[in-house]
Amino acid sequence: MILKAKLLKALILGAPASGKGTISSRIVKKYNIAHVSSGDKLREHIEHQTDLGKEVKKYLNEGKLVPDDLIIKFMITELKKVDNKPWLLDGFPRTVAQANALWKTQPVDVVLNLVVPFDVIIDRVKNRWVHLPSGRVYNIGFNTPKHPGKDDITNEDLVQRPDDRPEAVSQRLQIYDGITRPVIDFYKEKGILEEFEGRTSDEIWPKVVAYLDPIFSKK
Ligand code: ATP
Ligand code: MG
Repeated sequence: MILKAKLLKALILGAPASGKGTISSRIVKKYNIAHVSSGDKLREHIEHQTDLGKEVKKYLNEGKLVPDDLIIKFMITELKKVDNKPWLLDGFPRTVAQANALWKTQPVDVVLNLVVPFDVIIDRVKNRWVHLPSGRVYNIGFNTPKHPGKDDITNEDLVQRPDDRPEAVSQRLQIYDGITRPVIDFYKEKGILEEFEGRTSDEIWPKVVAYLDPIFSKK
């Protein structure tokens, strides 16, 4: 398959808190492509109290999935907005129905799957703080903010996500195991899945670069 890096459609998969956000920001920065994160976009809507935000807030707070019809319509529309750029999709699809819908409208070229042990994930979520407006993520003890509770760039407040509460986390991990795992198989069957294993993002990152560099240099 010849990939046109200029308009590459990439997708990143991984359990909640597997480092998708961190690896994604590094990818979009290094290769200068658009980042489309369903979770970030939904949180923006919630913060601005839009109609959609009001509709989805409950699902996010409880760590449940937003219904397929709603998220599919929303994300397909969002992807149309970046049709003229290469992009990296993060957080969508999460069900096989979503994967099928995406495949029909925007077949992705490469799928990266982050494989991180569950004990690492649980630990990480407990120590996670986010800067809501930008989506920047901090981890106390690993990627600690320069000033406690403040974003490094804007100095605005950091918050803990309501769905990072232990009950919501275990809910999200269960959903991931039962509902999202088949999405991995969906792309495995298409022959475009590449797995990256590690306990930290710094361990995973060089492997991702080694995989993507040749793809992006093929312009
Ligand atoms: P992390 O951000 O640590 O990777 P995560 O992947 O669980 O964790 P997000 O991707 O930010 O979190 O998504 C947060 C929430 O937004 C989900 O728990 C769900 O409620 C909703 N959501 C996001 N994407 C989808 C989707 N594709 N289908 C259904 N719900 C979604
Ligand atoms: Mg996310």
